[in-house]
Amino acid sequence: MLIGFIRAIEKNINSRAYTFSPLNFAYIASYLEKYGNYTNFIIEDDLNILISKKPDIIGISSYTQNYKQAISYAKQIRQSLDIPIILGGSHITGFPKSFNNIFSVGVIGEGEQTFLELVNLLKNNSFDKKHFSKIKGLVYYENEKIVFTEPRETIKNIDELPNPKIELLEKYFDKGASYNIHTSRGCPYKCIFCSPAGSTIKARYHSAERIITDLENISKIKKNNQSEIIYITDDLFAVNEERLEKIVKAIKENAFDKKFKFICHARADIFSKNIAKLLKEMNTLYVSFGFESGSDKVLKYLKTNSCYVKKHYEVLDICKKFNLGVGSYFIIGSPIETKEDLAKTYWFISNNKNYINLFAITKLTPLPNSILWQEFISSDDLKNQKFDNFEWDKLDTNLESENYFFLPQNYDKFFFEEAKKKFLDLEFSLNFKNSSLFQKNGFLGNKDCTQFEGQNFYQESMKKLLSEIIPENIKNILEINSPVKTFDERENFFDVIIFNHSLEQIINYEKYFDEVSKYLKDNGYYIFLIYNIQFIENLLDIIFGNFDSNTYGIRQFNNYNYFSFKTFLSFVKNKNLKIEKYIKYKMTSNKYENKILEQVKKILNLSEDFEYFNYIILCKNK
Ligand code: SF4
Repeated sequence: MLIGFIRAIEKNINSRAYTFSPLNFAYIASYLEKYGNYTNFIIEDDLNILISKKPDIIGISSYTQNYKQAISYAKQIRQSLDIPIILGGSHITGFPKSFNNIFSVGVIGEGEQTFLELVNLLKNNSFDKKHFSKIKGLVYYENEKIVFTEPRETIKNIDELPNPKIELLEKYFDKGASYNIHTSRGCPYKCIFCSPAGSTIKARYHSAERIITDLENISKIKKNNQSEIIYITDDLFAVNEERLEKIVKAIKENAFDKKFKFICHARADIFSKNIAKLLKEMNTLYVSFGFESGSDKVLKYLKTNSCYVKKHYEVLDICKKFNLGVGSYFIIGSPIETKEDLAKTYWFISNNKNYINLFAITKLTPLPNSILWQEFISSDDLKNQKFDNFEWDKLDTNLESENYFFLPQNYDKFFFEEAKKKFLDLEFSLNFKNSSLFQKNGFLGNKDCTQFEGQNFYQESMKKLLSEIIPENIKNILEINSPVKTFDERENFFDVIIFNHSLEQIINYEKYFDEVSKYLKDNGYYIFLIYNIQFIENLLDIIFGNFDSNTYGIRQFNNYNYFSFKTFLSFVKNKNLKIEKYIKYKMTSNKYENKILEQVKKILNLSEDFEYFNYIILCKNK
């Protein structure tokens, strides 16, 4: 029997969903294999491909904002295949009353055992409503009436679940998805907007030993060109220090801190120096916090009286001290929020931009299963609502969506729309400054097309320097100022590719280089502009915390953390490149007064003729 899985997600390849592989399906597949001897699975994001493989049963998982899409997937499957279609995921679990008859049956809650029992019915030619009633955790229609079976009990000891069949997800990793693992299920806190918080299910945790086996499995399939980042996609990871100590000890004993970099979630009010120290020890690249708001009043509402802005500053200080990257989530659009509260959030984000590595700003949305949802559907407007034609896509937390339920009571929608634009600009400038991948016209081309607005002085000086190093008769130059995640296929090939401080901007720079280098002609050249940490301006930037976010966004701060000239030399070796020529380029500083430079030279005991420079390096393939 061929068992197919597909997740209903936005078609936009840049969506966050594509950062992760569908690990939930790998969990179900391993459970089916262990307890039912099923071995034939296909996990696909492309519905046409999935249909063309003619599976015998398909499982679709869906979040609320994609529920409409899940229904449309089911309709398309019905047109081609006469097979059972099972709906699972957070939407139907959170709000099973919204079940649509286009699906054969919906799975409420954890899906492993329920899905197995459904597949067993199919194997025994008894996949019919008569038999559904004996399976726990289902919703379906019978005689035009919605039926719920007895609730499925949650798995108490999640270590009893077999390790997910990670090898089924390899194609996602090949396409650049990060590895992700779950070390727990659920969360003990009660933030009003969050789905796990609305459930009565207790949080459960994997043991350190089990986490190590998941990492070992990833290690076995990991190819050199794949991401070395592991996202711990728990609702909340760093909760209990004692447990964290055990996990970190096990990770270090197995040397996974050398092999992987981790990203995880923590909570500001329970964060401590010891947690930061432990996260650093396990090689955490950044830890994400739901800071949510710059206003204590709004925080009290969203996080049920447990988080304060003052604590957020303390958390940022701790992370700075331990050199831990910080990711952050913010929510705007609460019913009680005033214009002043919105402004406080804006300025909290803006003022801390140099200490936060990633930002995500969303709008408050009543997601099924959350505490907010329960209030929302019992409101006068909605209590008699029929959910057959409910606009599920209106429950999208994305700030860009224009069709949404407007909750604030202290300002109007027009004001919110204007504020949203400001927040979106802020988010974009912080996360994606300089984010065009291919920029044909940079230093050497039409300056109007560069992103270095107002930096013509810099361009002119660079232009001169680059013309010294670029070989004769070069016509076709590709200059890359900053990388983005996805690559648009290009037809042209280039004589020279200039990496204009772009390698420094991403963690997986070798993979990025491999993708871009496909566009170099045979015998072509690479030029790398590389920061020199000893360039005195860079040093002063660090000392003064003065990062040029107008030009570089917040990336400049990170650049110093993970790419040095030494890194570059090992990169040259790994990529089999040959250095043909290099220039150490000095720049006349226009940022710091000579007086300051002189003082710093004195303090650092640098000789009068101390040179400060960055590198321009010409390379070829060996
Ligand atoms: S937002 Fe985070 S801390 Fe709050 S309930 Fe959800 S998972 Fe838990």
